[in-house]
Amino acid sequence: MISGADLIITCPHCEALAKVFSIASGNPFGTIGWSDGYRDSPMMPTAPRIARCQSCGKAFWTGQAQSIGYLLPEQGDAQRKPEWQAAPYLEPLDEAGLMNALSEGLGCSAELELELRVAIWWRGNDAFRREDAPVGHATSPEACANMERLIEMMHESDEDLLLFRAEALRHLGRFDEMEETLRGVYCSDYWPAKSRLLELGKAEDRKLRVLFTMELPEEENALNPQG
Ligand SMILES: [Zn+2]
Repeated sequence: MISGADLIITCPHCEALAKVFSIASGNPFGTIGWSDGYRDSPMMPTAPRIARCQSCGKAFWTGQAQSIGYLLPEQGDAQRKPEWQAAPYLEPLDEAGLMNALSEGLGCSAELELELRVAIWWRGNDAFRREDAPVGHATSPEACANMERLIEMMHESDEDLLLFRAEALRHLGRFDEMEETLRGVYCSDYWPAKSRLLELGKAEDRKLRVLFTMELPEEENALNPQG
């Protein structure tokens, strides 16, 4: 993975500067695809879609912030633009931070609300992205309410979202509804995920699971053992 230029943006609330990282080149090796649809790609990190300004403390969609330029990785560019260089990087928000962003009104359209709620669900599930996670799915009343709302919002939606809906139903232990939802998934691209969810549902398994992994090629492993 090679870092790219940093995008410099201004906070839509207070105009404070912030940096957004980018990568010049990445690859999908090492990706883990999880049953909730989240893909963890260590060699292809993405910049946060929602962040909180470190100056005024307000949350915003990074796509709605104004871009003012790029800070190039070349030596010398940082010296020419010390204010840009000093700006903090935008940090991704955790489950609680995203829930706060939702209550501050960032889910102001159905589309944004859906994206924000999926992000809340994924960040809550991060606690279970390891083999020995004791429970394997969210249990807090806030997280369950979020899944309930996602299930409601993804009723009769596109097939990729029906897979998300089925997974949320599985986490809540509603296996019959999960099966019914998966009847709406026909696209052959989704068959492996669909059959795995059906299998887990039959076993009354509610845990977040790994669906696939993309192994690093052996020669790259040898060259770059730490990734
Ligand atoms: Zn601000």
